[in-house]
Amino acid sequence: MEKFEPNIQQNIKPNNLLIKQKPSKRLALTGMLAASLMMLPGMLGVSPAMAQQKNDRELSYSELIKKAQSGEVKKVELDETEQIARVFLKSQKPDAQPLQVRLLNQNSELIGKLRQSKVDIEPVSSANSRAAFGLLINLMWILPLVALMLLFLRRSSNASSQAMNFGKTRARFQIEAKTGIKFDDVAGIEEAKEELQEVVTFLKQPEKFTAVGARIPKGVLLVGPPGTGKTLLAKAIAGEAAVPFFSISGSEFVEMFVGVGASRVRDLFKKAKDNAPCLIFIDEIDAVGRQRGAGIGGGNDEREQTLNQLLTEMDGFEGNNGIIIIAATNRPDVLDAALLRPGRFDRQIIVDAPDRKGRLAILQVHSRNKKIDPSVSLEVIARRTPGFTGADLANLLNEAAILTARRRKEAITPLEIDDAIDRLTIGLTLNPLMDSKKKRLIAYHEVGHALLATLLPHSDSLNKVTIIPRSGGIGGFSQQIPNEQVIDSGLNTRARMKDDITVTLGGKATEVEVFGEAEVTNGAVSDLKAVTNIARKMVTVYGMTDVGLLALESHNQDVFLGRDWGTRNEYSEEMAIKIDRKVREIANECYQIARNIIRENRTLVDRLVDLLIEQETIEGEQFRQIVAEYTPLPEKELAKSN
Ligand code: ADP
Ligand code: MG
Ligand code: ZN
Repeated sequence: MEKFEPNIQQNIKPNNLLIKQKPSKRLALTGMLAASLMMLPGMLGVSPAMAQQKNDRELSYSELIKKAQSGEVKKVELDETEQIARVFLKSQKPDAQPLQVRLLNQNSELIGKLRQSKVDIEPVSSANSRAAFGLLINLMWILPLVALMLLFLRRSSNASSQAMNFGKTRARFQIEAKTGIKFDDVAGIEEAKEELQEVVTFLKQPEKFTAVGARIPKGVLLVGPPGTGKTLLAKAIAGEAAVPFFSISGSEFVEMFVGVGASRVRDLFKKAKDNAPCLIFIDEIDAVGRQRGAGIGGGNDEREQTLNQLLTEMDGFEGNNGIIIIAATNRPDVLDAALLRPGRFDRQIIVDAPDRKGRLAILQVHSRNKKIDPSVSLEVIARRTPGFTGADLANLLNEAAILTARRRKEAITPLEIDDAIDRLTIGLTLNPLMDSKKKRLIAYHEVGHALLATLLPHSDSLNKVTIIPRSGGIGGFSQQIPNEQVIDSGLNTRARMKDDITVTLGGKATEVEVFGEAEVTNGAVSDLKAVTNIARKMVTVYGMTDVGLLALESHNQDVFLGRDWGTRNEYSEEMAIKIDRKVREIANECYQIARNIIRENRTLVDRLVDLLIEQETIEGEQFRQIVAEYTPLPEKELAKSN
């Protein structure tokens, strides 16, 4: 082929040859895959120059030979790399640019011909400026490419190092935790506090206990409703225990990938052993500790593996090696039984909603940094807020402070406290209704509740009755002060429950007495629900009726998690009918009592309604005074006024 080409060349017309010899074709001949990258700069750099020179300073191959033979050529420079011959003619000026001839691969023939014509031949080794320029352009292409590749490499190595860290625990580790919370900041849950303080002494002076052969507990489980201060308690321990403290939330173990949680648990315990004696705090442990193989939709591999690892680790270390695990949950009912057996979380500390004394203590803690008017009695607030948790109380004082600021007052007064309680328990106040039939109807309904609450012997006394509407579709309400003894002891009586039902039905009873059956509204929906709830429990849970001393319905109604989902009815069809009949009987009986009392006190009711429409709110004290003008108050109210 090599020899063949120049031969063809000579037989072809010179013009044709020139046209066909395009630079791109030349590059394509040398083209390897890798070289394709350089093609663009190559074309950019070379071809425009070529096109420019073609007309004036280019010479064809055969013309060169012709000129050489006729002796016009003085000198030829052969540039192998560029494949160009620069031809200096005898006729041209010494400083003029040489003519160029594109060369073919094989130049031996040309050289031979030139020799024959005694032309001066000078080989020029490439490295002219244009080639260097081309190289530069190529480099400029390559550099960013290399940089890009490095970037990718770096990133992927990052990703892989992240993957390697997957199994590392995310626990926050503190040798001396600075949570800023002291035992003093936790109030109202004294027993829990003491127990945990004891746990810390286990860690600090284990000899005291091991000397008498006591095994130090491995795990302590804080159990209680949300907002009672479990996390707060753990933070306080971290601050005061003066031992290393690991804290992690149960949900931080749970990952998308099976096995990650388990390796995090392993890592956590390894670190803890290196730092013993120390405390591990796992908040919201139900996130991992849920009953295995339960729940809607079957088990969860990742969670179960994590839990298994946790169980193994807790078994793995022998007692007295200075690690104590504190965990917190508000769902002990869904925890796996294996987690709760002695030897693991063998101590359970119940952190319950505080009693009145506890509420007072918590209020004292949270009022420390607030400006409170001396007329505010924390004692009274504590009495008015049964069932409030620590978090609720903190929120209450904060709400009151916000209201105070909004009203541009110096300090929180009882009024703001009152409004804050209503806001939290009932809803935001809306603008009062215009005088209308609707307003009258609401007033009668609420006065009905309020009057029954005052007159019935076992019901809770009235705090206030109002017809200022609240958010959530509440037209007004009558509010009772919960009986302290009942709330604190948790013991309710049948008499109180029945009076409760009667008070709750009092609204509807009054509407019927005053406006007649036809005018009764749908405003009593929640009243009826509450009534059904209490009455049903009296029959099926508390065994208070002649239906029998049976617990007919399981108490736990948490249908959506863990075990026992779906209510189990442990009675026959026949029993169901009996229950329904009994519930209706109770409701009807109470309803009749309510209607009777309203009918007998109709003038009093009308007067109270007029006053309520005028004032929009009647406080309990004023209400009782008016009632006393018409009918004797029951003993419970007399005891109060003394
Ligand atoms: P949980 O029991 O749900 O973990 P937290 O400990 O997170 O509740 O309590 C939330 C907030 O409520 C606390 O930051 C604190 O301000 C307040 N609080 C709850 N319980 C108490 C308490 N016993 N004493 C003081 N403040 C409390
Ligand atoms: Mg918590
Ligand atoms: Zn009502």
